Amino acid sequence: MWIVPEAAIDGLLSPDDAFAAVEQVFAAMARTEAYNFPVVREGLGEGRQYGFKSGLDRAGGQLGVKAGGYFPGNAARGLINHQSTVFLFDPDTGVVQAAVGGNLLTALRTAAASAVSIAHLARRDARVLGMIGAGHQSAFQMRAAARQRDFDRVVGWNLHPEMLPRLADTAADLGLPFEAVSLDALGAQADVIISITSSDAPSLMDAHVRPGTHIACMGTDTVGKQELDPRVLARAAVFTDEVAQAVTLGECQHAVAQGLLAERDITPLGAVIDGAHPGRGSDDAITVFDGTGVGLQDIAVAARAVELARAKGLAVEVAL
Ligand code: NAD
Repeated sequence: MWIVPEAAIDGLLSPDDAFAAVEQVFAAMARTEAYNFPVVREGLGEGRQYGFKSGLDRAGGQLGVKAGGYFPGNAARGLINHQSTVFLFDPDTGVVQAAVGGNLLTALRTAAASAVSIAHLARRDARVLGMIGAGHQSAFQMRAAARQRDFDRVVGWNLHPEMLPRLADTAADLGLPFEAVSLDALGAQADVIISITSSDAPSLMDAHVRPGTHIACMGTDTVGKQELDPRVLARAAVFTDEVAQAVTLGECQHAVAQGLLAERDITPLGAVIDGAHPGRGSDDAITVFDGTGVGLQDIAVAARAVELARAKGLAVEVAL
């Protein structure tokens, strides 16, 4: 089997590599050629969370699992709190093929998912990118989004303003002007909004969102988290990576529970990628992508990482 250590991932996979891998597997999911298995997530006590995201991609010939979670005590030990590893198996024999560091890959695949949604759902003439959230994921999100439209500036809001320099620095790196704004101003100016927070109550309210906006709602990946006013979902065209996850642990969980959105009205983004669904209906439509994060995304980028690491001599082969 091959081992691709976490340290080898940095600089190995470009945002374009991650985009291509995620776009392909979303399309395979919509054709039911790829399946995610039910997510396992367990509390270990003292705030520690551990779980598995897994799936089978018949089209891509991949079977795998991401194991990992959130370990809040890590920071004091000089480790990052989110820890994960992706294991790949031969889908015909079950023989393990690779173990791949999953921490940076998670950020790349999550950013790729919202970038794929922007590529397929945002208005072509989108010029202003709005960022809600300024945590670890936000910089990856902004970098990947900037490749999809000809944005000329970024506006951002974060509950904790001391974190905003991360957005300003990332925008500067991309050569884009950045302005910290209120949520009112963000909604009034942004053509594309990425929301990536760990909030458990909505930040972006119905009155903030104007026609024509595309919202990539990326932070809600657990029961109880929430970023968006459910009334936005009621008047938007709603897309997701995986409908079963969207209605249980994604942003859609709240609108569905309140009877504002029906499961049948949520479209897999893969159907748009495949051309089976037209996506955005008009320039005035509001589109929402509920990115819940699926195991097949992890498996797709991990498989690409193994290919690239082997080609560059960065993968270590060990006998089973
Ligand atoms: P982080 O801890 O680095 O940052 C957290 C962010 O949330 C900060 O911007 C913080 O100011 C904000 N925040 C915290 N409490 C808030 C509240 N009550 N209201 C509004 N904002 C609040 O986290 P991160 O690594 O950037 O991850 C952000 C979120 O994205 C988390 O919820 C994480 O679980 C989720 N995530 C989702 C996926 C996916 O595939 N959908 C993948 C990775 C992470």
